Amino acid sequence: MEQDNSLIEFQETLKEAVTILNYPVQVYEFLKKPMRFLEVSIPIRMDNGKTEIFQGYRAQHNDASGPTKGGIRFHPDVTPEEVKALAGWMSLKCGITDLPYGGAKGGIVCDPRNMSLDELERLSRGYVRAVSQLVGPTKDIPAPDMYTNSQIMAWMLDEYDHIREFDSPGFITGKPIALGGSKGRETATSKGVLYTLQMVCELKKMQLKNTRIIVQGFGNVGSYLAKYLYDLGAKVIGISDVLGGLYNEGGLDIPNLLESRDSFGIVSNRFKSSISNQELLEKECDVLIPAAISGVINKQNASRINCKFVIEAANGPTTKDALKILDEREILVVPDILANSGGVIVSYFEWCQNNQGYNWTEELVNERLKEKMTSSFLNVYNTAKRYGVNMKIAAYIEGIQKLAEASRLRGWLKY
Ligand code: GLU
Repeated sequence: MEQDNSLIEFQETLKEAVTILNYPVQVYEFLKKPMRFLEVSIPIRMDNGKTEIFQGYRAQHNDASGPTKGGIRFHPDVTPEEVKALAGWMSLKCGITDLPYGGAKGGIVCDPRNMSLDELERLSRGYVRAVSQLVGPTKDIPAPDMYTNSQIMAWMLDEYDHIREFDSPGFITGKPIALGGSKGRETATSKGVLYTLQMVCELKKMQLKNTRIIVQGFGNVGSYLAKYLYDLGAKVIGISDVLGGLYNEGGLDIPNLLESRDSFGIVSNRFKSSISNQELLEKECDVLIPAAISGVINKQNASRINCKFVIEAANGPTTKDALKILDEREILVVPDILANSGGVIVSYFEWCQNNQGYNWTEELVNERLKEKMTSSFLNVYNTAKRYGVNMKIAAYIEGIQKLAEASRLRGWLKY
């Protein structure tokens, strides 16, 4: 695995934005790391009768604005640094979208693709037992992230309810609807990315119909997004999964690809014509949407990226060096902490519904999601203009202002 620089990149960009805001360096010192970080060892009995010890983490970045919030990822490459960076990004996301939360993130080093459902259930329950002191509906509220889904949330909820001895649906979001999940949660991140793209089209006087789009990643976010784009008449000319990419200048048959993929979203291996992810990223298009992992647009390939706009649906897909090159080439990059915030926005709606004991319709969820995505986009866009910075720095500025103000009002920061 390549060295993960997420935390360094988070801290460097944070410093830049704090300096532009003219805040004292103490604001940076406070926000550069999570306020709390827990590392746990989780012994799990495997199907072969042996016990394996899994490493897990939970980072709570800042709880000045409310309880902390953020997903749990199951992935072999999870590191403490990455979890800390992701928690910081969650804080900024919640600030930008004006949610009453700070950020958190969790992770377990594991490869769910090589585990049985029973093993995954035991691991999910084991994680909750290990972090149960630190989490809760008014403390820290987990959700799905990479390679975790509503079933895993259901097991985690059940374990938490057993420990606490009462029903607490607001402990976790992204649950199945039958257990208090929200309508529209599963599709929320993709819908949010779509609304972001629609804003870009409006501002740049472009028609979404016939716009040529490449979506890198065909998991939860990428696959729903590709389908929405296809249905709206955009030309999805490229998609990819972990094994490779598919490209067709005339547009891909997305409904057929959705039908053919396996449960991990893999479809490219069924086609002889598949190309590598790297090749796909460099193909000419109007909009490139990286929706998979971090660091895919980097200083090696940034000068060959061949699009007008990049919309970051994954967390951290463009490195800092790459962003500089894209800025110089006048390719507009809509940052992850804005573009992919639809997931946490609808998680917030789910939590509100759980607290109210009243379920919203899918129309209401989507309408409010669109409202929040649109207003957050315009705030960041205008902040970028006001400060003469790119949208990534502008998004940090928006997020930091909320975090710093809440921390200052609590008396944690003096400025
Ligand atoms: N894991 C998602 C994210 O990175 C969702 C977090 C949430 O819903 O709390 O934004």
